[in-house]
Amino acid sequence: MMTSLPIPVFDGHNDTLLRLELDAGSDQERSFFERAVHGHIDYPRARAGNFAGGFFAMFVPSKIARMKEYVAGDPANHAPITQNFALDMTRRLMAQAYALEAERPSVMTICRTSADLRAAMETNRIAMLLHIEGAEAIDPEFTVLEDLYDKGLRSIGLVWSRANIFGEGAPMRCPSSPDTGAGLTDAGKELVRACNKLGVLVDVSHLTEKGFWDVAKVSTKPLIATHSNAHAVCPSARNLTDRQLDAIAESGGVVGLNFHVAFLREDGRFNADTPLETMVRHIDHLVDRLGPEGVAIGSDFDGCMVPKPIGDVSGLPKLFEALREAGYGEELLHKIGSRNWLSVIERSGL
Ligand SMILES: [Zn+2]
Repeated sequence: MMTSLPIPVFDGHNDTLLRLELDAGSDQERSFFERAVHGHIDYPRARAGNFAGGFFAMFVPSKIARMKEYVAGDPANHAPITQNFALDMTRRLMAQAYALEAERPSVMTICRTSADLRAAMETNRIAMLLHIEGAEAIDPEFTVLEDLYDKGLRSIGLVWSRANIFGEGAPMRCPSSPDTGAGLTDAGKELVRACNKLGVLVDVSHLTEKGFWDVAKVSTKPLIATHSNAHAVCPSARNLTDRQLDAIAESGGVVGLNFHVAFLREDGRFNADTPLETMVRHIDHLVDRLGPEGVAIGSDFDGCMVPKPIGDVSGLPKLFEALREAGYGEELLHKIGSRNWLSVIERSGL
């Protein structure tokens, strides 16, 4: 068998900045540049997995805002948060990204354009595209949006799985239709227009189905779902129905495969004993609906329970090996690995 070149991965979603921020000052404090045993991404393991960078989420959990311990299934996990709190925390998460770049500028870089992303990949630096997951930090006049844009923000998920002034998020429920609540508010539609104008990507992951269709109607850019899966394979409210996938395809958009077992498994269970086969089944379905240009990776590393055969970022090559065995050719693997994200970011005007 011919040896195949490694597949670089530009990833649609990770929660590593939050992980670093929460670990700081705790007994889990660590350097990103040293191999850790907990979490999914650090520099040595990223290199081992051919991780070339991705959307680095700035996500503010409800439980932090309420200073409560995380308890699975607690409705407090999805409670609304205030703008002040969200903005303060978002600035701290952004500072974590700047600190990574400042510590090792030869290997870590914050990217603002698709040209920046390509240059980073060509020079073997890990590319960070700053993303807000849940737009609570943004005020209705969008002064914060412009300020964060100036500091490097290039992507926004309008909601996380909770309500804010812009719209409602789909709960993590399975089986369930994603049509669980209201769509975008008028402010939400304005935010989509403002992002289109400014050059900020609008991410539909976590939106209710009504919110999704509102974005599809208002946005002039290709639709992207940074970390969502196929509802036809795993009927979670967080996944995308075939109708939604068809709309994404029609817009020239991209969906990143989420590695969270509860969004992968047919039974929607939190069970890390999930075979690579289940991931391949989603990719097969996504390629079927979206075409070879519409499918990418959106791991959710450091924010989810990943299948045991993957383990952490260093396990990425195992997914590509499984896809190879399922008959995927090298060109398609490179598209799924990084080229489709780079292309849609460029076609979105960044
Ligand atoms: Zn998420």
